[in-house]
Amino acid sequence: MSAGARPGVAYLVGAGPGDPGLMTARSLELIATADAILYDRLIPDGALAGARADAELIYVGKAPGAVAMEQSETERRMAEIALSGRSVVRLKGGDPFVFGRGGEEAETLVDAGVPFEVVPGVTAGIAASAYAGIPVTHREDASAVAFVTGHEDPAKPESAIDWRALAGFPGTLVLYMGVKNLPAICERLIASGRDPAEPAAAIERGTHPGQRTVLATVATLPRLVAEAGLGAPAILILGPVAARRERIAWLERRPLHGRRVVVTRARAQASGLAAELRGLGAEVVELPAIRIERRLDSPEVAAMLADLHAYALVCLTSPNGAELLFEAMAARGLDARALANATVAAIGPGTARVLRGLGLIPDIVPPRSIAESLVESLREVDVQDRPVLIARAAEARDVLPQALAERGARVDVVPLYETVRDGASAAAIERAAEADYVTFTSSSTVRYFAETVGAGFPPAARVVSIGPVTSETVRELGGEVHVEAERHDPDGLVEALIRDASLGSTTSSWPRGRIGPCG
Ligand code: SAH
Repeated sequence: MSAGARPGVAYLVGAGPGDPGLMTARSLELIATADAILYDRLIPDGALAGARADAELIYVGKAPGAVAMEQSETERRMAEIALSGRSVVRLKGGDPFVFGRGGEEAETLVDAGVPFEVVPGVTAGIAASAYAGIPVTHREDASAVAFVTGHEDPAKPESAIDWRALAGFPGTLVLYMGVKNLPAICERLIASGRDPAEPAAAIERGTHPGQRTVLATVATLPRLVAEAGLGAPAILILGPVAARRERIAWLERRPLHGRRVVVTRARAQASGLAAELRGLGAEVVELPAIRIERRLDSPEVAAMLADLHAYALVCLTSPNGAELLFEAMAARGLDARALANATVAAIGPGTARVLRGLGLIPDIVPPRSIAESLVESLREVDVQDRPVLIARAAEARDVLPQALAERGARVDVVPLYETVRDGASAAAIERAAEADYVTFTSSSTVRYFAETVGAGFPPAARVVSIGPVTSETVRELGGEVHVEAERHDPDGLVEALIRDASLGSTTSSWPRGRIGPCG
């Protein structure tokens, strides 16, 4: 891995077209380490989530008609931050050097004597077309591509664009910033000799969950785009390759395309469910219900660490507990060897996996991941008059400590973290209210959802439950269960959801498949 952001250096970084998965590894590394980040409007959702908590985040976006900061001011700020000895990331949509004014910014940095690095990004013209199923080159259709700005009104006599040359360009035309001038652009190209029957496409919000595409011809594109109500940001593709979409379009074929699905997270692990649903094409709204707050600075933790080597038995009852115990140990210069004298028990396979990752193979893992089963498995361990450590969450059942105390153990229950309610953002709650599906993986997720969203279950959404216990909780809280998984695990839930979606039984308002005919 290359180094993080260096003091006194400016980074011109492309954030890609919108899908967070298309951000480069280098961009994420720089975002995570920069002292300051100057960012644009068209950057992916959550692009700044990995920024340092103390990083200075400065919005310099240019919404149409409402400029947050003048270009010259942005450039001045960027140079100033770097010259003061801090690292600064200039985060831009797509690629910084493709219609991104990155060239001008680099020149300002050269003039100011600021060292800089340029990090390319996936540009919208390539990404939006790929997501629309349009290859910008094709052996049979196009062996050249031109990136063109459609920002300039072709009717203006001072237009810097040679429209006649573009009309004769032997390949695909990819136009940025062209929706507003679309009628004038098509008219001018046709007047200059471009074939009016040539396939053409417009792709709005490419790679975002709500990407929309209109396929038409150069002659019909303006009308069909207007009818579909497409607006900026959009990419226009002119050339025979556009028609390849009829066969290649893949985004819309994914089983959950166009469905907005809410995932209520009761624990970090549930984000695997969100990733799976996204992979199937769903737009996922994550409502984080619980956050882990570490409690590693308490006197109990300090006392435990001081006597760690003396414990005869160490019980870890969650993956978080295992991770945080080792983190607390590391802060004191201790590693797995500090537990060399102890029998180590993990409550289940998840906790055992974390321990193995930390270089410690647990001696005991019970057949079922619950306290009662662990108590049973510990029957053979001699704990009479011996010190036992239970490292865990602050709030947990007392089954395990009680059972061990009854057998004469000297039990230390040491809380390493607390799980606290997390407020979802207002934007997430708003999006959840218009979901097609709400999924519940446990009764607690139902309760968190009801508390977070407040006004009951979203009226148009279908409720998907992992099993009968969870379903019962939904009904207790006044909701209706539309789909119940046959297999009561996240995979079973996803299966049930896909089956339901394929019946076309939602009230989803999102247009699916291809909009508008070709021709
Ligand atoms: N540097 C950017 C382009 C900035 S100019 C890049 O390399 O992608 C802004 C224009 O880019 C918009 O008007 C639109 O034409 C295009 N654009 C940016 N993001 C887009 C997206 N997600 N879908 C479609 N077009 C997009």
